[in-house]
Amino acid sequence: MTGRVLVLGGTGEARRLATALVDEGVHVLSSLAGRVADPLLPPGEVRIGGFGGAEGLATWLAANPVRAVVDATHPFAVTMTGSAAAAADVTGIPLLRLQRPGWSEQPGDDWRWVDSLEEAAAAVAGFAHVFLTTGRTGLGAFAGLVSEVLVRAVDPPEPPLPARTTVVLERGPFSVADELALLREHAVDVVVTKNSGGHLTEAKLTAARELGLPVVLVRRPPVPPGVPTVATVDEALVWVRAQAG
Ligand code: NAP
Repeated sequence: MTGRVLVLGGTGEARRLATALVDEGVHVLSSLAGRVADPLLPPGEVRIGGFGGAEGLATWLAANPVRAVVDATHPFAVTMTGSAAAAADVTGIPLLRLQRPGWSEQPGDDWRWVDSLEEAAAAVAGFAHVFLTTGRTGLGAFAGLVSEVLVRAVDPPEPPLPARTTVVLERGPFSVADELALLREHAVDVVVTKNSGGHLTEAKLTAARELGLPVVLVRRPPVPPGVPTVATVDEALVWVRAQAG
């Protein structure tokens, strides 16, 4: 196969896709936002930093031809996903959205769905010990909380933060035993998460179920209309191969 494939990354799926494509001899360029200080890098070529919105990406694609684009960014990377859809429209370059399935509720779960971090903050206002696993961006939505707040993130979060915040700097995956220990140590009585899906970070949901704790989940933003979407790296590989001919 010839022609470079652009993978918009920042997820485990993106790294696995890049690895599989490189193994097949495809020229892959993975793109990362540059948010994490010490990112896990995929094999193949890597570029770091934004493109400058949809227009910037369209301009970049005109100057750096690619055969196809796979948007394998996080389900909540809504700006990048929107830019990719708009740039694909303008340039006519084939675009696929690779997005892992969300989590599904199981017997014993006490899940409370909300549409935004602001709604999540309102939903946990009455709790004493809140565990925020929503990442380090957007924490300002919780700044008004007076509860004890445990924040887990890969890199240190920036203010504004809730007044009584404890930060744990860790990158998944996390085991159920680790999550149970953390929840108990901090006497957590509610967990907040985005519906990111995937196995690397789902142990907190199992741990919350075991302890009978409520979980506030932020619903995913929708995929832009008209963008073909797959849930697995294998399906994305099939799609990329089909772009060859
Ligand atoms: P976002 O809000 O959609 O993106 C903000 C801006 O960052 C974009 O407009 C774009 O800048 C740049 N950007 C994002 N992803 C990029 C990529 N793969 N390559 C080049 N530029 C990129 O995204 P975010 O939520 O800040 O996430 C940033 C990165 O972290 C993404 O790669 C995502 O996969 C990863 N991530 C996000 C989450 C999450 O909860 N949101 C969790 C885990 C990992 P320009 O407009 O200048 O092009």
